[in-house]
Amino acid sequence: MTRKTKLNPRRPLVAGNWKMHRTASDTRALIQDIVKRVERVANIDLVVCPPFTSLAAAHETLGRHSILALGAQTMHQAKEGAFTGEISGPMLREFGVRYVILGHSERRQYDNETNEKVAAKAIAAVGYHLRPIVCVGETLSQRESGDTEAVIDSQIHTSLAGFPPEQIEELVIAYEPVWAIGTGKVATPKQANDVHHQIRKLLVKLFGPKGADIRILYGGSVKPDNAVDLMSQPDIDGALVGGASLDARAFFDIIEAARPKRATDHD
Ligand code: PEP
Repeated sequence: MTRKTKLNPRRPLVAGNWKMHRTASDTRALIQDIVKRVERVANIDLVVCPPFTSLAAAHETLGRHSILALGAQTMHQAKEGAFTGEISGPMLREFGVRYVILGHSERRQYDNETNEKVAAKAIAAVGYHLRPIVCVGETLSQRESGDTEAVIDSQIHTSLAGFPPEQIEELVIAYEPVWAIGTGKVATPKQANDVHHQIRKLLVKLFGPKGADIRILYGGSVKPDNAVDLMSQPDIDGALVGGASLDARAFFDIIEAARPKRATDHD
């Protein structure tokens, strides 16, 4: 008798955001190191997001290894045009890119990536068969003044305005409290899960019952020693990892923490 396993729409996902680290030649070694460790890992989606200049090297090094998908750290919403310094969806696709981080707090802070721009980029991304990882998160002063809920509500509504409901299976959200990114300060599992729960409710309001299946990642100083507690929270579906994703061993340990542990979680 064959036992039917339930398809898990919220299959865990761990993405590494390399930020502005690693030259193309350094990229080859890091990709090889990661692939060696994750080759036998199952039931989880894995993504690495190197700088634009390293995508070709990463793509080439991965070859036919499909265990690791490639992501970009941003993109422009236009297909092409007079946008000096920008990169478009079709350009990313040429290097095998499947995911794109949008609205990361560093881009919101230094590059004016507003909610409105994130919305336009997310719509463009799915049009080019790229899965958007839309980042939201409050600053420390917003949290301390009790505004977290309102900030998240507004970011989710505005960043997802006009997103095509028939494409929500492609959408990933990352909750990244700004005060926890690169600071070593991590949200407690309960603080993180509370916001994830709020986001899930907002997604249901926006997209109907299927909105509950959209994956929501936690990001902000995720390390091997805090990953197990964070990843075991019911509304946390994986992690967006910055610093620790540059260390293949640490990245692997976080991946292990995010992997489903029960047979019914497998797909
Ligand atoms: C990030 O860059 O998205 C991030 C969460 O960074 P870190 O893990 O270094 O805090």
